[in-house]
Amino acid sequence: MRDAYCGTLNKADVGRKVNLCGWVYRWRDHGGVIFVDLRDTTGIIQVVFSPDYSEAAHKLAKDLGLEYVIRVEGVVKRRPPGTENEEIPTGEIELAAHSLEILNECKELPFNLDEEEPNENIRLKYRYLDMRRPQVQEIFKIRSRAYKIVRDYFFSKGFVEFETPYFTKSTPEGARDFIVPSRLNPGHFYALPQSPQLFKQILMVAGFDKYFQIARCFRDEDLRADRQPEFTQIDVEMSFVEVEDVIEVSEGLIRELVKGLKGKEIDTPFPRLTYDEAIEFYGTDKPDLRIDFKLIDITEVFYSTELGILRRVLDNKGIVKCVHLQKRNLSRKELDLSVEKAIELGADGLIWIKKEGNSYHSPVIKYLKEREIKELEDRLKLLDGDTIFIVAGMKEKVNEVLGKFRLYLGEKYCPLKTEDMRFVWITDFPLLEYSKEEKRYVARHHPFTSPAVNIKDFIGKPEEIKAKAYDLVLNGVEIGGGSIRIHRKDEQMQIFKMLNIEEEEARDKFGFLLEALEFGAPPHGGIAIGFDRLLMMLLGKKSIRDVIPFPKTQKGICPLTGAPSPVTKKQLDEVKIKISI
Ligand code: ASP
Repeated sequence: MRDAYCGTLNKADVGRKVNLCGWVYRWRDHGGVIFVDLRDTTGIIQVVFSPDYSEAAHKLAKDLGLEYVIRVEGVVKRRPPGTENEEIPTGEIELAAHSLEILNECKELPFNLDEEEPNENIRLKYRYLDMRRPQVQEIFKIRSRAYKIVRDYFFSKGFVEFETPYFTKSTPEGARDFIVPSRLNPGHFYALPQSPQLFKQILMVAGFDKYFQIARCFRDEDLRADRQPEFTQIDVEMSFVEVEDVIEVSEGLIRELVKGLKGKEIDTPFPRLTYDEAIEFYGTDKPDLRIDFKLIDITEVFYSTELGILRRVLDNKGIVKCVHLQKRNLSRKELDLSVEKAIELGADGLIWIKKEGNSYHSPVIKYLKEREIKELEDRLKLLDGDTIFIVAGMKEKVNEVLGKFRLYLGEKYCPLKTEDMRFVWITDFPLLEYSKEEKRYVARHHPFTSPAVNIKDFIGKPEEIKAKAYDLVLNGVEIGGGSIRIHRKDEQMQIFKMLNIEEEEARDKFGFLLEALEFGAPPHGGIAIGFDRLLMMLLGKKSIRDVIPFPKTQKGICPLTGAPSPVTKKQLDEVKIKISI
């Protein structure tokens, strides 16, 4: 139907006769001459309908509406001097239309595609219209390029690509399962995989050595801006490896993706922090390293404090920590606001001390000893215009609150550019964490993660066991995580025991894995990188919905199809299910 694309024609094509197909993006009647911006997937070209070129085409062009689908035959011409448009690649040329064919009409649009940003619900309901917009087309072309980069990278390193089942048994990744009833086995259900974790381990037992998959994962959890019930992971597993090997392969992949998608070289290896260091200095295991200040422990400075709130904390074996904001010279209003913010974030209170010239200001200044101020000044190297913000309390809470407060200050006072990509590995995670809800220890990553120590040495203090587990964090967002796995059945059983998973339950849930581990399973480990989340970050988008073709809303609804929806009684009867609401 066509012999050229709209967006790729240029000066070199002047004089060429072409057939173009596409959509009417803009339409203007300039008294006698009609201009149409014709759009296809490659871009836009200006088409001129004039009676001088073709009376019939000009007449028909009067009937065109926005987003009509047309085919135009014409000749590429240079635009008259002074009418060029530098904003578009085809801005120096236009098409003189000799014939026009309307291939399809378009009814009145729910939003103008040329508008700034329509409301998200409307955009998702009419996703096909939304996607016609050049900037959205661009996102999904980048996503498509990313698949290729991932595949090329892993193939070049000898990885084998697999598809693992969607209808399977539960894979514990900390979320609820989506379940699918089996008609052939009434009363039995498949679980959609929270990740391909168990299959990729089985593929290592099967001797494939290096596996990857661009895998869909399904997790039924409350949705936030960077969560979707189904999402894509770059899933990786390797045999005979240690932590270093997995980290190196992952860094290589990220390097290729950043180079391929953003044309930027990034430095590897990425910096690393142990989990303990991350908590100590940033109050979180997902630190945003674009913010250049850390949490500083200043408990010692106040050993003899007479300031009531600090005294009480210290007598209760609490700690005192601060963050140091340099130079900003905050106003009283800003300082008051920061106190409110800290309380909102969960602090019992926030003490600020500001240096102005050579003197110090603080609501509690008269309770601070000269020695304390002097010590703070020396340790923190306080200068004119600097402020320190102090939070005191029990260690865990102080780290958590001050970590969030650091983020607040960073976002407010240090312009955080998405272009500035600060990757960091967090290593040596605790293997277990205590679940108050379930009143037992649960796996922090998943129960197949290998401990980094001999767990027999940690009887009675399971929370101190470290794991061979690592997360990759970019600008405060976790974009991946993995571990070296347990490859021996006896060790796996020991861990299940610590997690209070009884032998029978273990056999029922993971019997196939346990059995496989007994047939010569090699040492192995891997990682999964959140593909949507990484793309979101690389493209500087705020939500993963922007990089997923057909995403769900916060309530798990697909505005385009209307899913989820009720099913017929017949369908329910077939799977022997009764609805009780
Ligand atoms: N299966 C894990 C996850 O989805 C990743 C891994 O351990 O490889 O988080």
